[in-house]
Parts: sequence; C-alpha cells; structure tokens
Amino acid sequence: MHLIQGIKLKNDQCLICGHSKIRDLFTAKDHGISQENFIISECLNCKFQFTKNPPVESKIGPYYEATKYISHTEESPNFINKLYFYIRDFMFVEKYKIIRKYNSSNNFLDIGCGLAHFLNFVKSKNNNVTGIEKIESTANIARSKFQIEILPPEFLLENKLKEKYDVITMWHVLEHLYNPKEYINAIKKLFNHESILIIAVPNQNSTDAIKYSEFWAGYDVPRHLWHFNPINITSWVEQFGFKHLATHRLPFDAFYVSILSEKYRGSKFATLRGMFNGLVSYLKSISNIQKTSSLIYVFKLNSNE
Ligand SMILES: [Zn+2]
Repeated sequence: MHLIQGIKLKNDQCLICGHSKIRDLFTAKDHGISQENFIISECLNCKFQFTKNPPVESKIGPYYEATKYISHTEESPNFINKLYFYIRDFMFVEKYKIIRKYNSSNNFLDIGCGLAHFLNFVKSKNNNVTGIEKIESTANIARSKFQIEILPPEFLLENKLKEKYDVITMWHVLEHLYNPKEYINAIKKLFNHESILIIAVPNQNSTDAIKYSEFWAGYDVPRHLWHFNPINITSWVEQFGFKHLATHRLPFDAFYVSILSEKYRGSKFATLRGMFNGLVSYLKSISNIQKTSSLIYVFKLNSNE
C-alpha cells in the first residue's frame, strides 16, 4: 500500500494560519451517503472551518459510493441530476472562456478529473490534456471512453510528470484532499512562467452557506475536509509563492446546493424552495462576488519564484 493511502488528518492545527486554538462550531450530517455526523471546527484566529476527525484516507472510499456521488456517476435519473448535468455542460464553455482570459497555451492538466468530461471538452478545442484521478475504476471508464491519458496521484506527488503544464485545474477537488499542501507544492514544480492554476471550491461564506448552516450541502461531510472562503483560500495559496490574479463566479451552484440543502433540512417542496433560495443567493452574488455559492480562483506564480 502506498504511503499516502493511510493519512490521518492532524487537524488540531489550522491549515491556513497554523493556530492551535480551535473550537467546535456545529454538527453536520452526511445526508448523501452514510448518515453519520461530523463536527465542523473553526480556527479562533482566522475563522477557517474544517471537518473535525474525518475517517482516515484509507477508510474514506465507502463514503464516495460511486452510484450515489453525482460527480462520479453517468446516471441522471431525477430532476436534480438532470439539472446538474445540463449546467455542467454549459459551464464547460464558461470555464474555458475564463481560462483563455489568462492563458492561451495548450498543455492542460486536470487534477481530480473524475470521468474526464471537462478534459474531453478541452481536448475538442485542440489542446493536449492529461488527467490525474485517484479512483482507478473512474479513471478506467474515462480512459476507455475518451482516450485521454489519466494517471494516479502518485505521478504528481512523486514528481514523475516530466513536462510543464500551461493550465492546471482543480474543479471542486482541493476540499477533498488529505494532503493539500503536498499537492500545491507538486503543482508549483509543473509551472512555467506563464502557467495558471485554477481552483474552484464551495464558499463557506456564501449567502446559501450562511442561510443553511449545518444543512448546507456545500459542507458535504466527510468528503469535504476543508471549508474555504474567498479570504482564506487566497491567503493560503499565496503562502506557496503564488499570486492571486482574479476570482470568478460559478453562479449556478447556488441552485443545486440550495435544493439539496432544503432536502437535507427535510423541507416540504424542497425543490421549489431550493430554486427560490438559490435565486436569492444568485442575485446577491451579482452585486457581491464574495457571497457566491462556489468560486473560481485564478493564480499565477509570483514573479520572484
Ligand atoms: Zn487559522
């Protein structure tokens, strides 16, 4: 077994600021899969939130049961899943436009590529694409469906990737990682001077997160280990020698997350209520990007790195 398989999070220290004064905020339930409860902790110094005592990495597999975890499934049997897939395809175009504002080169690496739908879209635009995916069965489906090179995380973490990449993306991946520092350090070694790093994560300070609190679907315990907001994620990534260039909205996540949150809360007419509250969150995010349900952060290397 590889070393990284058994990571137990030592989260008695804040990932962002290193402080050890931590308090328990509330209990959140894994509504999606296990129905188990997990505590959300908060750093008293910088207010960063994270999941307290998640399962060790070698035991997290069952919490991702492929048939139930939407980003790892091809099935779309209900309204929410259909909405998810429709918006996902629309957002590929939007995400690609954002990337092209900052980099026009062609070598893409997508970390945590899942079934590689995004990479397949990027490949269709005449780019070279490589994926990193930890779950071998998912990687195998993607390889045979799209003929894309997909490698396990060891290739990244043990510096076995020999080329540089122009665009490195992590779409809703960082919040799942047991060793995020190792990933960011490894990514840095794959950069040239023009490369960009794109990180998308849920926003713990969004309108929908504040409204739903422990029922907020963006907590997604225990799969989400870290619950970032716009201030702490940018300051954390910049600690590694990156420069934050820009933040962009992922406007439609508010709807999907609000509908799920209403279901978790046991509301009647959860889909309707979720659509309404998603709309409220969406509208607020237009005037205040910091309140958006999920955000895309763009980074470059500092010029002195
Ligand atoms: Zn802190």
